[in-house]
Amino acid sequence: MSYTNFTIETDADGIALVTWNMPDKSMNVFTAEVMKELDAIVDQTVADEAVKGVVFTSGKSTFSGGADLSMIKGMFTFQQEQKKLDPENAAQKLFDLTGKMTGLFRKLETSGKPWVSAINGTCMGGAFELSLACHGRVAANSKSVKIALPEVKVGIFPGAGGTQRVPRLTNAQDALQMMTTGSSLTPQRAKAMGLIHEIAEPAELINAAKAMIKNGLKPVQPWDEKGYKVPGGGIWTPAAAQLWPAASAILRRETAGNYPGGLAILKCVYEGLQVPFDTGLKIEQRYFTEILQTTEAFSMIRSLFISMQELGKGARRPAGIPKSELKQIGVVGAGFMGASIAYVAAAAGIEVTLIDRDMEAAEKGKAHSEGLVKDSIGKGRLTHDEATALLARITPSADYNDLKDVKLVVEAVFEDRQVKKDVIEKVEAVLAEDAIFASNTSTLPITGLAKNSKRPAQFIGIHFFSPVEKMMLTEVILGKETGEKALATALDFVAAIKKTPIVVNDTRGFYVNRCVFRYIHEAYDMLIEGVPAAMIENVAKMAGMPVGPLSLNDEVAVDLSQKILKASIADLGEASVDPRHMALINTLVDDLDRRGRKNGKGFYEYPAKPAKKFLWPGLKDLYPSKPAENFDVLTIKQRFLVTIALEAARTMEEGIVTDPREADVGSILGFGFAPYTGGTLSYIDGMGVKAFVALCEKLAESYGEHFRPTPLLKDMAAKGETFYGRFDPYGKREAA
Ligand code: NAD
Repeated sequence: MSYTNFTIETDADGIALVTWNMPDKSMNVFTAEVMKELDAIVDQTVADEAVKGVVFTSGKSTFSGGADLSMIKGMFTFQQEQKKLDPENAAQKLFDLTGKMTGLFRKLETSGKPWVSAINGTCMGGAFELSLACHGRVAANSKSVKIALPEVKVGIFPGAGGTQRVPRLTNAQDALQMMTTGSSLTPQRAKAMGLIHEIAEPAELINAAKAMIKNGLKPVQPWDEKGYKVPGGGIWTPAAAQLWPAASAILRRETAGNYPGGLAILKCVYEGLQVPFDTGLKIEQRYFTEILQTTEAFSMIRSLFISMQELGKGARRPAGIPKSELKQIGVVGAGFMGASIAYVAAAAGIEVTLIDRDMEAAEKGKAHSEGLVKDSIGKGRLTHDEATALLARITPSADYNDLKDVKLVVEAVFEDRQVKKDVIEKVEAVLAEDAIFASNTSTLPITGLAKNSKRPAQFIGIHFFSPVEKMMLTEVILGKETGEKALATALDFVAAIKKTPIVVNDTRGFYVNRCVFRYIHEAYDMLIEGVPAAMIENVAKMAGMPVGPLSLNDEVAVDLSQKILKASIADLGEASVDPRHMALINTLVDDLDRRGRKNGKGFYEYPAKPAKKFLWPGLKDLYPSKPAENFDVLTIKQRFLVTIALEAARTMEEGIVTDPREADVGSILGFGFAPYTGGTLSYIDGMGVKAFVALCEKLAESYGEHFRPTPLLKDMAAKGETFYGRFDPYGKREAA
């Protein structure tokens, strides 16, 4: 028999090597067709008496990324359709559907012939669950092998036997840690945990897997053997009595109860370990069915899995423009941002000419990369040769002529219109005709800066976030005259450095900073009202924000807030800024020199390490706080999320952001907007626009006009629309 996605070669010892190698895909993923073929392969190998055992591997450099977008999307579409067609039986049908993979893996593991998974590269999610169903697992000794069950990160959990097999192979604590964080394991760690049996040199991987079968590997899993005992003795032991209360407390501390997927993992393991294996699988299947019906799972999968992949693959890239092979770029301004931009480009294999006012400043910029690679060598992430090659790709210079061959220049000089004007003119004097100029400005509108350019169609914004090495998002900003070639080149560059882009039209603060400052300003309002600062910070985290607003303000610098408020007054008039906010910030910056983390004092105090930062006690004197009991936690949470989501809705209404996927992904990657909501607009869609409008009206009554719902929202509420319906990213887009 021949298969589309697999090849089978049986050797003289009767070992069938099944190689998963999907045509036209860079990575193997589970699709309905893959499942069907795998099912047939199990039947075929069972029926073929010549086959003594099976080694399962991948023909690609990675093993597999797990489930395919289409399969995940299919589950949600199926569920929504069934709810309409046959509401009474919809849950049962979803339950049957979710059981398919579980059933296939169980069939494989009870087929009577030994299967060994030869893990040659990254092995994620469903692919590792398949491996767990194999009787033997060997992984290649390579840095590129990462093993994980990361489903929790997109709102679901390992639902194809993972929650039952992992804690039957390793102790419950490690199992919970691995699955509730979704973190990656090295082969060494996986072996130490008992999740794989062997590690082999890459060239010996298949031989090692075959040897397991030749050495008599039993086609029976430990849990199917008589007398099997759960590692650590199961749930009714003194150790478990210590573990379980702590496990739920830790999960609560880390997630504030916002992630049903994480909690379901605890339930599956706790309940599943008390019953026979097949019953455990059924328990997992039930919880999986339940989780798939939650708004959180739907929204997280859409934003963090589907949309993120689509944007990463260039969903917004104009069609018909050939891909630019950016072998060499220029970065002008080798300061805090420019030095990091040079590093991420060089790390992606791109040659960088790094220019500053003089050689000393340019070399200082390169020294940043030298520090980073030294660190990476220390941590075993880079070899000496890789580090040397990376650094060789960065050429510091003070001579603009060195930019004559590059196709893209990223400018990161001082945030000053005149300085930027000079640099634009100097760069354009030497730049090739067809090259693109990108500014990393964080506050200056691109259209205005482009006025200094001789070729505004080739002028664009690429707004990075700090720290550039860690932050996955970039905002690509279109000026009024920016052309398609500039957009395509910018997106090609962002893809080359493996970041996710969102494309935003020109506006003050672009998208991310507009939203971020709403978050921070709400905290100013709360301080002024007398909400205790600690409550502000903690409740923001309970709402799902990764960093409290005051802490965030310290990170971005309090004097930057002052600059932005002053610029708003200068450009838009006094009424554009709340005078109480201006007074608060002027006091902190001008009177008290509290500028944030950078000068060691802001809303927080920053004592010498290892002591931790703490809220500045003097804040209470400036803004006396009332007892925490005076304030409602739910309302505080809502104020934070609603004020940010409203700003996101305004950017859609103004045509700044045009695709709801970008608003959602941008909010999560840009400032960590409560990921369980799926992002700013999914938060609104998730509760329903009508409910959101009602909530806004209620908050506006008590907390100010900035909560009033906008005309767009009212219109959508009246028509029963959603953002993903009205601004359908897949083509059926209606005008707003
Ligand atoms: P920085 O002060 O650390 O670096 C600016 C660099 O530009 C300095 O090395 C300076 O010597 C150099 N420079 C100044 N004039 C020059 C000229 N005429 N020719 C060549 N080099 C010149 O500033 P930064 O924080 O890296 O910010 C740079 C840009 O990035 C700004 O536009 C800023 O708004 C933007 N930005 C900053 C952040 C952030 O978090 N700091 C985030 C996003 C965007």
